[in-house]
Amino acid sequence: MSQSPETKDLPIDDLRSQLEGEVIAPDDGGYDEARHVFFKGFDRTPLAVARAASADDVSKVVTAARDSGLDLAVRSGGHSRAGYGTTDGGLVLDLSAMKSLEIDADSKTAWVETGIRAGEFTIATGEHGLVTGLGDSGSVGIGGITLAGGVGFLVRKNGLTIDDLLAAEVVTADGNLVTASESSEPDLFWAIRGGEGNFGVATRFQLRLHEISEIVGGMLILPATPEVITGFLEAAKAAPEELSTIANVMVAPPMPMIPEEAHGKPVLMGLVAYVGPVDQADEVFAPFRALADPYADMVRPMRYPELYEGPEPEPQFATGTNFFTESLEPAGAEAILEQLPKSDAPMKAVQMRVLGGALAKTPNDATAFAHRDRPLFINVAAMYLDAAEEETHSAFVNGLADSLRTDGAGGGYVGFMGEEDEETLRGAYPGGTWERLRGLKRRYDPDNLFHLNHNIPPADG
Ligand SMILES: Cc1cc2nc3c(=O)[nH]c(=O)nc-3n(C[C@H](O)[C@H](O)[C@H](O)COP(=O)(O)OP(=O)(O)OC[C@H]3O[C@@H](n4cnc5c(N)ncnc54)[C@H](O)[C@@H]3O)c2cc1C
Repeated sequence: MSQSPETKDLPIDDLRSQLEGEVIAPDDGGYDEARHVFFKGFDRTPLAVARAASADDVSKVVTAARDSGLDLAVRSGGHSRAGYGTTDGGLVLDLSAMKSLEIDADSKTAWVETGIRAGEFTIATGEHGLVTGLGDSGSVGIGGITLAGGVGFLVRKNGLTIDDLLAAEVVTADGNLVTASESSEPDLFWAIRGGEGNFGVATRFQLRLHEISEIVGGMLILPATPEVITGFLEAAKAAPEELSTIANVMVAPPMPMIPEEAHGKPVLMGLVAYVGPVDQADEVFAPFRALADPYADMVRPMRYPELYEGPEPEPQFATGTNFFTESLEPAGAEAILEQLPKSDAPMKAVQMRVLGGALAKTPNDATAFAHRDRPLFINVAAMYLDAAEEETHSAFVNGLADSLRTDGAGGGYVGFMGEEDEETLRGAYPGGTWERLRGLKRRYDPDNLFHLNHNIPPADG
């Protein structure tokens, strides 16, 4: 969405003088780094990047964007696949300097500013033997992953990240800072738990921490056959809730963490975390190890934060499609193995996460993330280097995803979505969720100031 040219007037020096944090304009050093996000292919040139230092700064930037009519891009960790954390000609509100963290080990809670990254947060809380479940990547921003839902290594034990969200401080479109919790602005609290940045800018979260230090986890790389793929998912479903798994089926790239003998072959790269008694781990992992002779078995006792120590990709672009389903049929596993090698994307994978456990114990309508009763999440994704190839790779992931969908498959998780049409977005908010969100969008952001996101249009007046 864009504004008419006459509204695009922002006195940068005024804004600079009002903020405690920096305002980086095209002539300033660091602009090139500041305008980029995780997916480096987004070559956008904002009018300025405001790197807020406080909630007060956030309020001033929101007000400046509203008064000037500029597009406002809000960014915590910058991992949006749609590149929503940067914009052409508009104003970027960058929260990455806001990382303060107060841990209350007695009450097992933490107040944290939203610019911190998942890995930084986990390493800091992990020092106290306490953690909150986030995703599989340490560099993801806690702001974006929490507002999307947060599906990670503790999903079956403790649910989503939002299930540990006790309160959030949010700057709404009118520039005011409000606290959202079960007892304060409960509708807003419901909406931000899955409705992403549509309702305001979250500046701080209060998160519940869980006592978890020694775990057994890491990576198990198996040769991928149809039997291994379906067997892995069956074993994950039958495992105790203390085990959460992420199964990535891919053509093994020549990466150091993957043994040379597996390079170029179809592999199942399982990322696993077992947070139950360490002495029971061998029994828990036995069904997975029995599926095939592993190419690599790096599953070992470790401290929970070590899960975030692996290498991170440095991608240009990614495309993907995701959905929830009941199970993966053997024909689906065969389709993966047949189709994956046909794509010439440098990295392509089918990622499957067996859900259930604590996630499913909360009713679907308790939060804006409303897929809690679905047992399996599948994300088909490809990373590529050249924007011109978008159509080719999207056609590939959509085609492969279609061949995996069985009766009842549907919906989607906004956290993994790119720029989507309204129908796809509605699928992320099933039942009455979409309409309730639209009503709340009208209440909290009637002019759709926060529109560079998976946008929920305000309900009609
Ligand atoms: C490599 C990789 C691994 C991932 N793994 C997982 C995973 O295991 N589990 C999972 O659930 N997700 C995962 N994701 C998805 C990820 O959670 C989402 O992309 C998330 O939105 C990224 O948050 P961010 O703050 O880094 O991104 P950003 O690009 O900064 O933000 C993403 C969206 O949220 C909005 N936003 C961000 N912060 C705020 C804020 N403080 N207030 C208001 N709006 C805000 C932005 O405007 C944007 O629309 C992964 C993504 C990547 C790229």
